[in-house]
Amino acid sequence: MSFQDLGLSEAVVHGAQRMGYVDPTPIQLRAFPVVLTGSDLIASAQTGTGKTAAFALPILTLLGEPQGRTRCLVLEPTRELAMQVETAFRDFSRFLSIQTALIHGGVGYNAQREALKSCDVVVATPGRLLDHLERGDARLAETQILVLDEVDRMLDMGFLPDVRRIIEKCPKSRQTLFFSATIPEEIERLSTWCLKDPAKIEIGVRRSPAETVNHAFYPVSSSQKFDFLLALLERTDFDSALIFTRTKDGADRIARKLKSQRHSVAVLHSNRTQTERVEALEGFKNGRFSVMVATDIAARGIDIAGVSHVINYDVPQHPEDYVHRIGRTGRAQNVGDAFTIMVAEELPHVKAIERFIGQRVPRLKVDGFPYVYTALFNESSVEEALRSAKGVRGLRGTTFGRRKRR
Ligand code: AMP
Repeated sequence: MSFQDLGLSEAVVHGAQRMGYVDPTPIQLRAFPVVLTGSDLIASAQTGTGKTAAFALPILTLLGEPQGRTRCLVLEPTRELAMQVETAFRDFSRFLSIQTALIHGGVGYNAQREALKSCDVVVATPGRLLDHLERGDARLAETQILVLDEVDRMLDMGFLPDVRRIIEKCPKSRQTLFFSATIPEEIERLSTWCLKDPAKIEIGVRRSPAETVNHAFYPVSSSQKFDFLLALLERTDFDSALIFTRTKDGADRIARKLKSQRHSVAVLHSNRTQTERVEALEGFKNGRFSVMVATDIAARGIDIAGVSHVINYDVPQHPEDYVHRIGRTGRAQNVGDAFTIMVAEELPHVKAIERFIGQRVPRLKVDGFPYVYTALFNESSVEEALRSAKGVRGLRGTTFGRRKRR
């Protein structure tokens, strides 16, 4: 089925075609009819599946002519996602006169206040939108369509109380679309409260990394982590490498050290100013920086085409984050590599990841790296030690696997 056959308006179809879209993705095929008939929707779908267009294209079709009042509100957990989704709305509506306002923190209020006066679509993060609502600069009384995007992320970030307050300001007779990669109990409760008889779509709930990603763990002693990162970068023919760290301080520290080794490095985390965040992301996208060091804020949803390598400097503590992080590479059938540096204390997280994705990830070594001994060279002994030290149960013995150089 092509975009023309799915009930979207001609101007919207042109907008999608101008973006180079030829065929709808599976989530688009299923979401368009639901949204166009005005039903509520609960979709468990991750970014990378085409979910933004899955809601934006039918919403723009429903909105039709501009009216200069907020008729559609899209809530996003992070500024970066809000910016990305707002850009998508603008791109798709280039043959319409619909205006979209982008509302997020970290920047001034005036331009946002102006934009709110005459827009049809608001794409916002919850905190700043509440500020505008309290100041009387935003009105949601005429909202016909409410989109809650990346709801599980909003839950993680503690936004659900704000989200509830915002929903209470929208009319009860609205249409609500709900997107979340996972639907834990708290989100289930929220959805029961804010959705009416929703259609359900479950797509791309990926527990396994894309097949186009080659991924491996690299055991190393914790004293050698940074040197090992340098060795990995040196020996890898990368165009663009995204390095994830657990903490913001860690991201700053590694970026500083990489810069001193003459790498061109951007840093992305939530303590940076909005201007710095935009600069980092743009510079990484356009190739000015070949390396970006980021915390998980960048792992979810941010659409960066052509990341050739993802390196986890720390093993992600939540298995889902592993899939999200390495999902930054190998997008849209491009082949990518994902390396995870692991130290002995992180073995339980590694095991949790392997249980979650249902496969054992190869352990690899880098030829010629001056390894000092790590107990991980005999994983089963580490597991044994962890079991007796912490009473950890259920870890099965494994041996150190393939040792070939990548
Ligand atoms: P999303 O899941 O919304 O983050 O989209 C992931 C990427 O897929 C973005 O770069 C979109 O521009 C792209 N995309 C979405 N829908 C299509 C489509 N039908 N054809 C080609 N690319 C698409």
